Amino acid sequence: MNMAPCDHPVYQGMHWIADDYAYYELVDPEKKKPVPIEHGATGIMVGTSLHPEAAVWFDMRFTMMDIHQVFTEPCPCGFSGFRYKIIGRADDMLKVKGVPVYPAAIEGVIHSFPDKLTGAFRIVLDEPPPRVVPPIKLKIEHSSAVGEADLPGLERDIQEKMHQLLKIRPAITWLKPDTLERAVKKTQLIEKTYEP
Ligand SMILES: [Zn+2]
Repeated sequence: MNMAPCDHPVYQGMHWIADDYAYYELVDPEKKKPVPIEHGATGIMVGTSLHPEAAVWFDMRFTMMDIHQVFTEPCPCGFSGFRYKIIGRADDMLKVKGVPVYPAAIEGVIHSFPDKLTGAFRIVLDEPPPRVVPPIKLKIEHSSAVGEADLPGLERDIQEKMHQLLKIRPAITWLKPDTLERAVKKTQLIEKTYEP
């Protein structure tokens, strides 16, 4: 095995434990250059198996264009190696002033405020992706527990967390709970203002 799910009750990502068997690398989807493994870094995961006998299953598993985000700070469960989350596919990528951003990574930050946000949000794109002129626009539903007076502080908290983890500072438009349409299947996270 090259990975293990975390035992912590709040999802922390997968623990990477395959250093003896495989070399883990992140690659910038556009420049195709290695991305340093730093807390919060994102890129296409490229795995290279170090043992020929492991190559078959390993290469089958990791030739997908999955985008990983790595976390190098110690996991709350006590595991000390790095961990990762799959945050999207290479084709989902947006570029905000040269910084790659994945809708699923934005969703991850939104979902880290479960008491204050309903989890429903949209990324508003005025032009076809991937290029986004900053600031990236988000419509976010606050929860019913949040009053009008709390919104500016909450806005700063979200911007701060997104800046820290994703290197973006979004412009946030607040929506009341249950404003956005809920999809029965997969929720569409993008709202295209450039299409009628
Ligand atoms: Zn853990």
